[in-house]
Amino acid sequence: MGTRVIAATSVWGNTVTTTGAKWLLLLLLFSCDSDRPSTPPAPQPALPALPPPPSFNADSAYAFVKQQVDFGPRVPGSAAHVACADWMVAKFKSYGASVTEQKGTVTAFNGQQLPLRNIIASWAPAKKERILLLAHYDTRPFADRDDERKNEPILGANDGGSGVGILLEIARHLGASTDSALLGVDILLTDVEDYGEPSGPSRRTGTASTPGRSAASIG
Ligand SMILES: [Zn+2]
Repeated sequence: MGTRVIAATSVWGNTVTTTGAKWLLLLLLFSCDSDRPSTPPAPQPALPALPPPPSFNADSAYAFVKQQVDFGPRVPGSAAHVACADWMVAKFKSYGASVTEQKGTVTAFNGQQLPLRNIIASWAPAKKERILLLAHYDTRPFADRDDERKNEPILGANDGGSGVGILLEIARHLGASTDSALLGVDILLTDVEDYGEPSGPSRRTGTASTPGRSAASIG
C-alpha cells in the first residue's frame, strides 16, 4: 500500500514538473520575443543556387601522376624534366588555358646553376577576381632521407607528382566548364623547389652547416 502511494505521488510530481517547465519555457520565449522590434525583419534575398560541383575523378588524377613518373625523375636540367614540362604545357593548352612560362637560372645551395621553368596556366585571364592554385613539379635529385639509396634521384610520385596530378585533374574540369560565372583561375607549377641542401643526421643534431639557400633570377 505504501508503495502505491509513493508511486502515485511520483507520477503526479513528474507531471506537474513537466507542465511547469513548459509554461516557464513559453514565458521565456514570450519574454525574449517582446524585446524584439515590432516590425518584422526585411526578407533576405535568396542566394543563387550553386552549380553542382564537378566530379573529381581519382583515376584520372592517378593517370596524371603515373604519366609524370613514367618520364623518370624530373630533376631540373634533365631531359625527363624538359619532356614532362612540355607535356604539362600541352595538357593545359588542350584544356583551354592561356599558358605563360617564367624561365631563368637558379644557383643551388652547392653553387650549381640550374635552369628554371615555372608554368602558369590561366583561365579567364581578364577577370580581376582570381584563385591561385600551385604545386611544384620538379623532383629531388637525391634520396637523402632514404636508408639505402641516398644518392639516387627520387621518382617523386608523391613529392611533386601528386600535387601536379590533382591540379591537372582540376584543369581538365576547368577546360570542360561552360559556367561563365567562374572566377579567374591560375594554376602555377613551380620549378626547382625540391633542390634544397641534403638533410642528414648532422643537421638533426644541430651541427650541420647553414640551412639550404637558393637565389633565382627570372626573366
Ligand atoms: Zn616537395
